[in-house]
Amino acid sequence: MDMKVKGSKELLTEVIDTGLCTLCGACAGSCPYLVSYKGRIVLLDNCTLSEGQCYQYCPRTYTDMDAISQQVLGMPYSSAELGITKEVLMARSTDANIKGRAQYGGTVTAILSLALEEGLVDGAILTRMSDDKTPSAFLARSRKEILQGAGSNYMACPVLEVLNHIPKDSTERMGVVAMPCQVLALSKMRNEPPQNRINIGNVKLVVGLFCTWALSLNGFHQFLLENLDLPRVIKFDIPPPPANRFDAYTSSGKISFPLDEIRKFIMPACTYCLDMTSEFADISVGSVEGIEGWNTVIVRTDVGADLMKMAKKKGKLEVNTLPPGNLAHLKEASLLKKKRALKEIIAKSGDRKNLLYVGLQESIIDNLLA
Ligand SMILES: Cc1cc2nc3c(=O)[nH]c(=O)nc-3n(C[C@H](O)[C@H](O)[C@H](O)COP(=O)(O)OP(=O)(O)OC[C@H]3O[C@@H](n4cnc5c(N)ncnc54)[C@H](O)[C@@H]3O)c2cc1C
Repeated sequence: MDMKVKGSKELLTEVIDTGLCTLCGACAGSCPYLVSYKGRIVLLDNCTLSEGQCYQYCPRTYTDMDAISQQVLGMPYSSAELGITKEVLMARSTDANIKGRAQYGGTVTAILSLALEEGLVDGAILTRMSDDKTPSAFLARSRKEILQGAGSNYMACPVLEVLNHIPKDSTERMGVVAMPCQVLALSKMRNEPPQNRINIGNVKLVVGLFCTWALSLNGFHQFLLENLDLPRVIKFDIPPPPANRFDAYTSSGKISFPLDEIRKFIMPACTYCLDMTSEFADISVGSVEGIEGWNTVIVRTDVGADLMKMAKKKGKLEVNTLPPGNLAHLKEASLLKKKRALKEIIAKSGDRKNLLYVGLQESIIDNLLA
């Protein structure tokens, strides 16, 4: 495992060409050479820098998990299934407009609207569906724009490229809705603040989504084009297990596909990801198995706890206890992802001592491999 910061050439050979790139966008948008193009990261020209921020903040180059955890959560990486948590609960928005457009309970959209209303942030980086049903990240500055981000698009989207486009001298305070890989990249930035980029201290709120895997734009978009009348699609959904379906809601009804038909479009990089619940976010949000229209919410930081408290006080969120069976199952799924990913990483590197990007204590690795 190499802990040295290298340049874009090595980013290409060690991450992009080896199928480890998650398309988080952390390397793109702040350098003239690296851009996202049609679902992948492209190096437009040779860059001679031997150390680059592209390599440094990539969530798939060496990552000292204890240092990151210490920085974001104030303690070393936890071996607990869901990482470090203050509270795990169930919530949904009280706003009919949000609930009508959101993926499940609209907790993410409600939290961001509140953060904007209360002046915690001036804007938020979100993802919305373009007309061709591909995802694109954007900076929302109003309640109306935040609502445009509601709903899930299951294709990976280089969200952090938009963050990197924010001018260095901007004083706007930002919220970001991010996948676990993107939260990890953001946490690397928080741990070692970038130069000549957005002041990372202006990122005041990170809402992380749960994620088992994301789909690759290449391939999956073609599949959608071949199987659906895309302009008529209103919403996509992968309902929680045991559904095992991919659903497309269209103006003329729901069309379902067996999940196995789309598994071949999973980003190869997701195989090597240990994090199902965005362990370094302020608040992490996912679905609730068997309870429609609600979200599982994990509160991790003081920022997250204060916002949840305010959301309850102001009647923006309805909150409930997560049934013990759901909590147990969430923990089981999260642990399974860690164990699987570690095994895949070792199979890829061919060496138990080489965990590619994962810098973790031996004892934690031993436990996960046991
Ligand atoms: C690729 C992917 C995989 C997921 N896998 C799981 C899973 O395995 N288990 C689980 O419980 N939940 C999973 N989720 C999360 C789930 O789909 C909901 O986003 C979450 O429960 C929040 O619901 P909500 O009603 O609060 O969302 P809403 O209020 O509707 O807000 C949705 C938010 O998602 C963001 N978003 C949408 N698409 C993307 C994207 N491609 N990349 C980054 N951000 C995006 C938007 O910016 C928006 O803010 C996944 C989401 C995605 C995008």
